[in-house]
Amino acid sequence: NKKYIATPTRTKEILNKYTFSFKKSLGQNFLVDVNILENIIACAGISKNSGAIEIGPGIGALTEQLAVHSEKVIAYEVDQRLLPILDETLVGYPNTQIIHQDILKADVKAAISSHFQPDQDIHIVANLPYYITTPILMKLLREKLPVSSITVMIQKEVADRMAAKPNTKNYGSLSVAVQYYTNAKVAMHVPKTVFIPQPNVDSGVLKLTIRKEPPVQVADEAFFFTIVQACFAQRRKTLRNNLSNYFKESYHKEQINEILEKAQIDGSRRGESLSMQEFATLANTF
Ligand code: SAM
Repeated sequence: NKKYIATPTRTKEILNKYTFSFKKSLGQNFLVDVNILENIIACAGISKNSGAIEIGPGIGALTEQLAVHSEKVIAYEVDQRLLPILDETLVGYPNTQIIHQDILKADVKAAISSHFQPDQDIHIVANLPYYITTPILMKLLREKLPVSSITVMIQKEVADRMAAKPNTKNYGSLSVAVQYYTNAKVAMHVPKTVFIPQPNVDSGVLKLTIRKEPPVQVADEAFFFTIVQACFAQRRKTLRNNLSNYFKESYHKEQINEILEKAQIDGSRRGESLSMQEFATLANTF
């Protein structure tokens, strides 16, 4: 019958004791519901032998649950004011380690090799600061870290976009980028009432299972992503128009038509109808 951090009473006690004031600019909305935290951890697929990496521990609500359910937790926190608080709230959990660093500047790969065993099953789990959700996730994905999954609480609309399939209104370059690296699923939607203070937006839990191999063969990854961006530059425009416009310095309209023909993709379609494989074929045909 432990008194977990993630209850409204205990959280308010801690915040009052340290006269902590929330910084909106750091996306500080703390979770005060143990059930939600347990659901997130179950969804991440963490087991007793797993390693866990957290981004933004706050006062330690999720960190504590990760410590209970995994072998070891490292957590990146940028706000110095939270360090003495975490020292106290996590005193009973020697398997936790706080790293005082901006996650966007951190060398996570190096941290993994120094804090975890080789071949340990590692999961990234976080209630992310919403103002930098996309930069954080794209950084973690591009670095091709040796982790099994990334499970994050983020703004619901962003979760829906990242997991969207072709021919839906949410499908865009972000969906293709995220799904190139992962299998993406929205695991649940979460009410505002489980946070202090309550955020202005709706939240959802996104589970990204890291792919062992890319889902498509591309000759040049950077160019593949350029093509995806170009095809979605103006959603209502056809592929032919978006590509001609993007490459107007380097290709004639007729050349764009030839490339589309060779790739066997109808130039009057829109980006939102293309599968990952079709984007790959198109990029490889250039
Ligand atoms: N994990 C806690 C919880 O669920 O109650 C807090 C989550 S809160 C939404 C986001 C946390 O990320 C805050 O503690 C904030 O200070 C921290 N943070 C914001 N920007 C950060 C950055 N660039 N690097 C690391 N932590 C950051």
